[in-house]
Amino acid sequence: MIASCDTPGLLPIFQALKAMLSNISPLKDSQSLPLLEAYSRVLASDVISPIQVPPADNSAMDGYAMRAEDLTSNEPLELIGVSMAGTPFTGEVTLGQCVRIMTGAIVPKGANAVVMQENTQVDKQLVRFLEPVSKGNSIRRAGEDIECGELVLQKGLRLQGAHLSLLASVGIAEVEVVRPITVGLIATGDELTPPGQPLAPGGIYESNRYALHAMLSRLGARVIDFGIVKDDKPSLRQAFKNADCQCDLVISSGGVSVGDADFVKDILDEMGQINFWKVAIKPGKPFAFGKLSKAWFCGLPGNPVSSYVTFQQLVVPVLQKLAGEQATEAEYFVAQAATAIHKRPGRADYQRGIYYRDEAGTLWVKPNGKQGSGIMSSIAHANCYIVLAQDHGDIAMGQHVKIQPMNGMVS
Ligand code: AMP
Ligand code: MG
Repeated sequence: MIASCDTPGLLPIFQALKAMLSNISPLKDSQSLPLLEAYSRVLASDVISPIQVPPADNSAMDGYAMRAEDLTSNEPLELIGVSMAGTPFTGEVTLGQCVRIMTGAIVPKGANAVVMQENTQVDKQLVRFLEPVSKGNSIRRAGEDIECGELVLQKGLRLQGAHLSLLASVGIAEVEVVRPITVGLIATGDELTPPGQPLAPGGIYESNRYALHAMLSRLGARVIDFGIVKDDKPSLRQAFKNADCQCDLVISSGGVSVGDADFVKDILDEMGQINFWKVAIKPGKPFAFGKLSKAWFCGLPGNPVSSYVTFQQLVVPVLQKLAGEQATEAEYFVAQAATAIHKRPGRADYQRGIYYRDEAGTLWVKPNGKQGSGIMSSIAHANCYIVLAQDHGDIAMGQHVKIQPMNGMVS
């Protein structure tokens, strides 16, 4: 059962998250995708290596392969062939012999060390080695990166570039990933005008969907855009019904704050079980969560900064859970406040900030301009959130604060 909508006062963020996440189970369906299409998708099963990497002992240098024990005397060794990457030497290295070898080429049978060419003197078919080496020198051992049968990547991992390279390195061409989450976007408000059209009196440009669309794409979701919906019951009912039957999750912005809540609430109540919360988060506060007749639903506040921040803090974890992604802790640093920061106790603040290091290496942070929930430039030009706990008051200059860098976030 979803947490009570009668929760008195403000709902701390962790409780809102707990209430949402405890209700959601990951999607079950998966699909097989070629590696190049699997970026940013979540692995649906563990990946086991079918081979060892590297597949054979090979050289880490351009140089010569020989028996390390043959370098104890000062005698030059006889050059008997070449081992190239992709074209191994097929003979065997025996007493007093060496083979020219290139980086990545297989170490010939009989050889047990490689010396880089800078440490040799070559005179026709004779190679003199300037100093002795130990066995195994400059050899990359078979299986030193990955053993055959080893777990390469774990189910629930969101695939980044390095993961795709790793999968390719064990010869895997396709991976099983969780199917894309279908997310419907609805922007509500009579005043909203699409960019590119003239503004009517009292109108503003609709901007929330653009950031939401971008962040959803980054999470590998399939977005269905239901556009701008007027604040009237038949239009809203139609839009929510359409979205409900086509999507796993429907996200709306606007219409959940006190003035409008009853309006959207009536329609959502007809369709399912939605909780209208006042979450203790600033910017943010009004936030709705629940289930329509089929799809999950998150109702974001309309103010652009509030919609953005509540998406990052409250909806991203929902999407991660739906995709079965392994939970990762948010990354925080501690910085010193470069100015005094105004903060009223009662809600957790996500102030938009700029952090920087001084010459001594100390990390500083200051709020980035006006912090109003409609001031989107405060986010667009910030590089972190200054995260101030719910019960915290004003921050004095020099005090330590938690910051959440934006470059580690879905943004
Ligand atoms: P609401 O949550 O509907 O009361 O909206 C709060 C404020 O956010 C109002 O000033 C709206 O005009 C504005 N707003 C709502 N939705 C959007 C949107 N999609 N894009 C830009 N501003 C919006
Ligand atoms: Mg509105």
